[in-house]
Amino acid sequence: MTQPAIQIKGLRKTYQGGKEALKGVDLDVPRGAVFGLLGPNGAGKSTMINILAGLVTKTSGSVGIWGWDQDRNPRQSRASIGVMPQELNLDPFFTPRGALEVQAGLYGVPKAQRRSDEILEMVGLSDKAEAYARTLSGGMRRRLLLAKALVHSPQVLVLDEPTAGVDIELRQMLWANVRKLNREQGVTIILTTHYLEEAEEMCDEIAIINHGTLIARDSTANLLGQLDAKTMIILPDEKPAQLPEAAGVSVDVREDGSLALSYNAKETSPESVLGAVHTAGIRIRDVRTEQANLEDVFLDLTRGA
Ligand code: ADP
Ligand code: MG
Repeated sequence: MTQPAIQIKGLRKTYQGGKEALKGVDLDVPRGAVFGLLGPNGAGKSTMINILAGLVTKTSGSVGIWGWDQDRNPRQSRASIGVMPQELNLDPFFTPRGALEVQAGLYGVPKAQRRSDEILEMVGLSDKAEAYARTLSGGMRRRLLLAKALVHSPQVLVLDEPTAGVDIELRQMLWANVRKLNREQGVTIILTTHYLEEAEEMCDEIAIINHGTLIARDSTANLLGQLDAKTMIILPDEKPAQLPEAAGVSVDVREDGSLALSYNAKETSPESVLGAVHTAGIRIRDVRTEQANLEDVFLDLTRGA
C-alpha cells in the first residue's frame, strides 16, 4: 500500500522554558493533496511545519515523509520535502540565482540537474536573477523563498502563511504556481493560512489545530457541511418599519438594505423565520440562503476552547 505523503504520530513539542506547542498530534496527509493546516495564531502550525522541515527538533513522536522516517532515514526524508518558511530569512548578499545554487548544493543536486533558470522564470524573478537579495521588495523575497523550496524537486511542498501580508497580485501568482505544481507535477501541497476563504478555495482537505491539539480533520466539503448555522437573506420591498423578531433568530441589516436572519437549523425551522418576517409586516421582494463558510466552522470549533 502506498504510504501517505506525510505521516505524523504522537507528535509533541515542548520548547525550552516549558511552552507545549504540540500536545500529541496524529495526522496523515495523502499523496497528491492540497492540504490546509489552519489554526489561530500560536496554535502550533509553524512548529509542526518547522519539525517537518527539520528546523525544529521534536520532543517525541514520529514523522514520516514520503514513507521515510525522519529519524531513521533523515537524508531521504529531507530530500522529499521543500519548505517555504513564514519568516523572510534570506542572506542579503546573495542574488536569487546565487541563493538557488547554494540551496541546490546543500541538497546535493548535481550541476547538470539544476533548474535555477526554469524556477526563476516560474516565480517571475528572471529579470532579478543577478540582483542582491537586500535590494528585492518583500514580494520578490517571498517568491525567492518559494523558488528555494523547489530546487531539489521535492514531492511535498510546504508553505507556511505564504500570502500573509502580500498584495493581491502576488497572492494570485503564488496560488497559480501552487496549483500548477500540484496538477501538472503531482506535488503534494501543505499550506497554512489564516485567510479561510483562501483555504476554502484551494484545499481539498483541511486540519484545524488549536492550542497544540488537532480539533478537526476532514475534506473541505464535509467541514463546510457540518454546520447547523444557517443564514436567510431577505430583500424587503421597502425599508421595514420594524425588524422581524423570533426566538433563536438574530437579525442583521446589510448595507444594501437586505436583512440577514441567522438561526440554528436544529432549533429553528425556516417557516418560523419566514413567519417572523411576515408578522413584522415585511413584504419579500427576494430571498436566498447563505452557506456556512470555513470561517463559521472555524469559529464554531475554536469557540470557548
Ligand atoms: P502558529 O504558527 O500556529 O502561529 P507557532 O508554532 O509559531 O504557532 O507557536 C506555537 C506556540 O509555541 C506559541 O505559543 C509560541 O509562542 C510558542 N513558540 C514558538 N516558537 C517558540 C520558541 N522558539 N521558543 C519558545 N516558544 C515558542
Ligand atoms: Mg506560524
